[in-house]
Amino acid sequence: MSPADAAGPADVVVALDVGGTGMKCALVRPDGTTVHTERHPTDAGRGPDAVVETILDVAEGLAGKARADGRDPVALGIAVPGVVDEAAGVAVWSANVGFRDVPLRDLAAERLGLPTVLGHDVRVGGLAEARLGAGRGTGHVLFVAIGTGIAAAHVVDGAAASGAHGAAGEIGHVLVRPGGPRCGCGRDGCLEAVASASAIARRYAEATGAGPTGAAGDSGPTGTPASAADVADRAAAGEPAAARVWAEAVEALADGLATGQALYDVETVVVGGGLAQAGPRLFDPLRAALHERMTFHRRPRLVAAALGDEAGCLGAALLALDAR
Ligand SMILES: [Zn+2]
Repeated sequence: MSPADAAGPADVVVALDVGGTGMKCALVRPDGTTVHTERHPTDAGRGPDAVVETILDVAEGLAGKARADGRDPVALGIAVPGVVDEAAGVAVWSANVGFRDVPLRDLAAERLGLPTVLGHDVRVGGLAEARLGAGRGTGHVLFVAIGTGIAAAHVVDGAAASGAHGAAGEIGHVLVRPGGPRCGCGRDGCLEAVASASAIARRYAEATGAGPTGAAGDSGPTGTPASAADVADRAAAGEPAAARVWAEAVEALADGLATGQALYDVETVVVGGGLAQAGPRLFDPLRAALHERMTFHRRPRLVAAALGDEAGCLGAALLALDAR
């Protein structure tokens, strides 16, 4: 039965996607259409208790807004980053929001009196891309978000596996360059240490002697350090250091995605996150490098994410719709 089948005409779910800097929020109908959106700052520097209070206040406000508009809020979905125990509804750990074992699902269910589901931001983003976005119509999708870090969601028939400990999909910590750059996790040579947007910017700064703050050299007209997007532009313009850093990132990504394909044998790989904005400068060489690595494996379709930064919020809504 599709979610729409059991829905009343005025039903909506409340959806929140909580990030390190902001929360994206929406009221979503059972057919996946959004009827209202809001954004709020997370202000993670206030500490996790204050962030939890804000989440509950915002969710309550959205449910109130729905009722004021004559709609019926029937469930709540919340997506958070880090390690998430979806079965227990606990935000186990998050570097950028500061969560440590927060029973967010039960806190929210108690405050709003609605069925509530807690999900992981990348896994629900993958869910949305697989069901409503670039992976629509395919049963086996690997969604890979490349931004500050790199994480993935393996979605089969519209459901993303979370792993035994809520930590599935950490493709950014696949070892692709033994002895390579130090990763934030403490090991040398993880994919994320070579090919995340922040790693690309850092490696370019190192290669050009600009340093991580850009203070000493090539920092562009505004004085800010070159971003991964700048590196892509400069590589396309033929600048050798940028071309080398970009090519190394693409090769490392192809290694990581080839590992993903060996494990999961998907039809479609959807790449999202900030780095996907590079468009053909990323996808053309990455597709070629990935295909080079396929021996007996079937080549997956490699496509850009379609839902942008709405994916997490829509995915949280899908979880809520599934949970009604
Ligand atoms: Zn790592």
